[in-house]
Amino acid sequence: MKIDLRFTENNFYCKVLIDLGEVKTNKFEFLLNDNLEIHKTKCNNIDVNFKVVEKINPLFRSTCKKMVIESENDINKIELEYSGTVAIFGDDEGVGITEQIKVLSFYTSWYPQELSHQDILNEEIIIHDCENFFVVKGVYDKENKVWKYGNQGFDPYNIIAYRKDVLKIVSNEYFNVFYIDESIAQSANELKEAYTHILNFYQKELFPEININVMDIACLSPALNDYGAYKRKDLLVTSVLGEDQFNILWFLGHELAHEWCKEADVFCWEDWLNEGTAEWAWILYALKYQKDMFINKIEPKLKESINIGGVKTADGSRPQDVHIRSAVILYKVYLKYGEEIVKQIIQQFVKLEIATTNNLLIAIENNISKDVALFLKDIL
Ligand SMILES: [Zn+2]
Repeated sequence: MKIDLRFTENNFYCKVLIDLGEVKTNKFEFLLNDNLEIHKTKCNNIDVNFKVVEKINPLFRSTCKKMVIESENDINKIELEYSGTVAIFGDDEGVGITEQIKVLSFYTSWYPQELSHQDILNEEIIIHDCENFFVVKGVYDKENKVWKYGNQGFDPYNIIAYRKDVLKIVSNEYFNVFYIDESIAQSANELKEAYTHILNFYQKELFPEININVMDIACLSPALNDYGAYKRKDLLVTSVLGEDQFNILWFLGHELAHEWCKEADVFCWEDWLNEGTAEWAWILYALKYQKDMFINKIEPKLKESINIGGVKTADGSRPQDVHIRSAVILYKVYLKYGEEIVKQIIQQFVKLEIATTNNLLIAIENNISKDVALFLKDIL
């Protein structure tokens, strides 16, 4: 998919090109954020009409229209033009396009998703008229005065652009923190020390040592106030870094652990494996190096939710509150068997070739104990 993107103060305008290559079809379907207004649809250079067949709410994302393009002839090349604005998450969390920050991501379906046929073009996004902005992970092409984005081995649809005159950056050898909200400055500096310490614990004591690339941490406050975050390869997107030392460590420890804890399917209940182990990776850090924090901040939260119930759903779907549910499951293991067994479970998880709950239970039975495997199976 090739996308030409332009921002105005509060909107964006997109031209999208999709090439299906040799495919022979006369019907093409995809999803797009329902807020966006379609200006043009073309097939093989000829204007065609489209139909919106239904409105749907795909997992994790904004409300979308399911669009269908039909043509009497084979459809190979599809061009779309549309414009509008999106939130930062879902339908109404944060404002994606503001004067100072522009934010686009998978979560707001700003580009065609769930295509009915595979597109053969490399993922490439060209951002025009954006020389006053800095695009995180983008490459500026001076000659053509455009930002280029994509084709660099990361998910290219997460765009964060800061107006240069308000952008601030705190960096060390492990990360760059980008922000405009001055209140983030202090936490960005506190992060420098905390990051090294947690990373050391993960690399030397908990997980197998891996290469960690420099992480770009993009803070979206004030465009996003609610605390929310997501991570894509070496990009971490969040509102703020956390209000105090506890929240900074929590945020950082959890997200950094996802460098290892990420192989289970995130679209169903099995995501508890990623979330539970990432959460407990940093709880193990706290148990060892920040015991007061564990006693005063973490354990009360876990106790409070002790009766929240398991993670397994009848239809296999992902529970909305999978984070706390999976943290509580491993808390129950901790209460019965202690921190060393939780550590071993996490280590078994990251070793799995195919990361499923069943495989983890087998690995626990073979390498830790049958008792622990049965106990865990019972509380899922
Ligand atoms: Zn997570």
